[in-house]
Amino acid sequence: MIIIMSSGVGDEQIDGVVRKLKEFGLDSNVSRGVERTVIGAIGDETKIDKELLQALPGVEDVIRVMKPYKIVARSYHKEDTVIDIGGVKLGGNQVQIIAGPCSVETQPQMDEAAKYVAEAGCRMMRGGAFKPRTSPYSFQGTGVEGLEMFRTAAEKYHMPIVTELMDVRMLDTFLDHDVDVIQIGTRNMQNFDLLKEVGRTHKPVILKRGMSATISEWLMAAEYIAAGGNHNIIFCERGVRSFETYYRNMLDVTAIPVLKKETHLPVIVDPSHAGGKAWMVPQLSRAAIAAGADGLLVEMHPTPCDAWCDADQALGPQELKELMVSLRLIAQAIGRDL
Ligand code: PEP
Ligand code: MN
Repeated sequence: MIIIMSSGVGDEQIDGVVRKLKEFGLDSNVSRGVERTVIGAIGDETKIDKELLQALPGVEDVIRVMKPYKIVARSYHKEDTVIDIGGVKLGGNQVQIIAGPCSVETQPQMDEAAKYVAEAGCRMMRGGAFKPRTSPYSFQGTGVEGLEMFRTAAEKYHMPIVTELMDVRMLDTFLDHDVDVIQIGTRNMQNFDLLKEVGRTHKPVILKRGMSATISEWLMAAEYIAAGGNHNIIFCERGVRSFETYYRNMLDVTAIPVLKKETHLPVIVDPSHAGGKAWMVPQLSRAAIAAGADGLLVEMHPTPCDAWCDADQALGPQELKELMVSLRLIAQAIGRDL
């Protein structure tokens, strides 16, 4: 950490900064220039709040040298982390496409969806039993019964299941039902109590990007999970809020290489909640895989126009099948398989 003092500061103010650093167990290196004095903090700077130093008299600016995230950082673990989800590997050379409906509706709907997802060649399935809806009057999900329908449908094809946890009070139920991957949705990316609790489990967690979250905030949210001991974290880019209204969210393709550089953890993309329209999903999916994503989380419904939630953005079974064919070619072109 580098502390830049205002011009014309006296020894008293410089000593004040040095004393504060010492309180936090850090040494200082004071460099007195003609114009400015600059103080270098030596030691573990994660122990000290930047704001605390910024508030001291005579301090003009504080610049962090170290990243505030540790466990999730690439510098902590050089190789890509591969997460084993019931035998399916995510983060390795093989790209994983996780497909399924936005929400779990009925047993026949889930049975049919599972059949199509497996037939298309996907190895994992998605489906929300607890739905975060903008309106309290919209369908809220089928709840615990939905978890059971989902498990029954996916089991037949040996597919691990991905489903969203919204409320910390439901965590034990998720564990009792042996949910394979816990999804933390966009609206909960900074629900720190929820993050801490899933951090105490060893379940793989898909952490979606907050609607307007910076990459640094997103990495810090993952650090909350990791700090509790759970390092099985998967980042999921799903588009960010922007000025544009033509589509639902703006898919931040740039975030893929940035995350792959900053973290060793797998990165996947949700093209469905980005575009918000089924016709955009194939192009966005191909862009994501070409940019280095380790997988996709994509919405598919046996009959999209009957979907109880997000009908507009769901692929039909045939569209998913065709998408898989083109994604396989892209994966091969960049030396991966699907
Ligand atoms: C979802 O995946 O069903 C969902 C609600 O996504 P998001 O949290 O990205 O809006
Ligand atoms: Mn949805």
